[in-house]
This record gives sequence, structure tokens and C-alpha cells, in this order.
Amino acid sequence: MRIGAHVSIAKGFPSVFDNIKSIGGNCAQIFSHSPRGWKFKDVQKVEEFKERYKKKDIKPIVIHNSYLVNLASMDKELHKKSMENMRKEFETAEVLGIDYVNIHPGSNKDVKIGLRRIVESLNSIETKAYLLLENTVRGIGSEFENLTYIIKNITIKCGVTLDTCHVYAAGYDIVSNLDNVLDEFDSIIGLEKLKLIHLNDSKFELGSKRDRHEHIGLGKIGIEGFRNFINHPKLRDIPKILETPVDERQGFKENIEVVKSLVE
Ligand code: MN
Ligand code: MN
Ligand code: ZN
Repeated sequence: MRIGAHVSIAKGFPSVFDNIKSIGGNCAQIFSHSPRGWKFKDVQKVEEFKERYKKKDIKPIVIHNSYLVNLASMDKELHKKSMENMRKEFETAEVLGIDYVNIHPGSNKDVKIGLRRIVESLNSIETKAYLLLENTVRGIGSEFENLTYIIKNITIKCGVTLDTCHVYAAGYDIVSNLDNVLDEFDSIIGLEKLKLIHLNDSKFELGSKRDRHEHIGLGKIGIEGFRNFINHPKLRDIPKILETPVDERQGFKENIEVVKSLVE
């Protein structure tokens, strides 16, 4: 199975390989720069990164965009910065030979206006990389229909990241009704669009609309929920990235061990 985590590249892009290896993973997610700032540093050690990416069986590596970006924003300044940021994000992905850039769709009080703004924004970007739209707990990204609207109206290649904490807290019952949720996903979005899973337990209950990740098995989705989820034939082959906490209880290594122990 493809299982990994969101790891640091504080020591440069090539450090992702050692970081993932040390926790027992074989795929990864990274921030290309500080996710709470707008500044990008020059991309360094490109050749070393590409060389190792080719040789090592650590795939895929996904870039997660900055938390500050909001492509649906009505604030001109914020929207302009968001666009510049997205262009640089895709540029970085192309330079490094990374296929996927994961983003949160964006927020706007008016869903329709927000959706149109997201589509317009994404249609002014050209890239060879694959955009991954991540489902969110609240707002535009929390409904499958909205993700479909974006996918159908943009020209760049696009897929979906399903975050288990987000989908559960948004009200989709992947614990008692996984088949129904997947049928709904399939009829609205299409399962062929599902390219990545963010594997996180949820600290809060179904439909709570609260985004707090928990260690695998220790939250409301629970160990049986994850056993069922990761072994589902429709989900088994989709790469899974942990965004679980790193705290005094445990870190990624332990969570990866838990996930591996559930594979049937
Ligand atoms: Mn995310
Ligand atoms: Mn996520
Ligand atoms: Zn989250």
C-alpha cells in the first residue's frame, strides 16, 4: 500500500526522502515554503531531488499549498497574492518534476460567486501539473457538488483529495455508511477523480463542522472505521497521506504502523 505523511523539508527538498524513510512511509506531502507566509525561497538542489525521486520508491510526492491562499476571495489584494502564490506553487512543482499540487478550494460567503471566482482563477493558470482539490469541513469545499462544478469548468488537469477527517466532520458518514458515501462520490464526482487520501481521524463527531485531526483510531472514526476504510476495494490502491498530530502520545511512525497493522 502507498502510505506516507506530510513531512518537513526544512533541510531542503531532497530531505523529504530520508524523512519519509525514517517513519516507514513510501509517499509524501510537503509544503514548498512556509504555509503561513507568502515568501518563496529559490528552489535549490533540484537535480539531487529529481535524481532521488527517480531512483527511490517514494511516490507520489505532493505539494500542499499555503493556508493563506483563497482563490474565492473578494478582497482584491488577497486574491492577487493568492494567484501569485498559486503560480509559484505550480512552477515549483514543474521544476522539481512533482505531479500533484493539493489545494483547498477557497471560501466566500456566497457559494455561487465563490465557485465562479475559483474557476476564473484556475483558468488563468497554465501548468502541466495535476491540481488536487481537497474536500473541506465547511464552506465551498465541503460539498461534492461544488468540487464537481470546479472540475467540470476548469481546463487544467484536476483530481480530488479526500480527507477522512474533513469528510466525516462535514457530515458524510464514512464509519457506518462508507459504501453509500463512495456511491455518492462516484455519482457526483466520479471515483476515477480520486487521486489521493488524507488519512486523519477526527477529534469531533460526524457533522460537527470542526477541523481537528486525531491519531488514527483514537478519534471518532476509530480503529474499526479505518480498518473498513483502508481495506475497501475502491480505496485500497489510492495513496494515503497522514496529517495526524505529532505530540507526546505519538507521531507519524506510530500512526503508519497502526495503518499497516490494519491491512487485510
Ligand atoms: Mn489540506
Ligand atoms: Mn487534509
Ligand atoms: Zn484538516
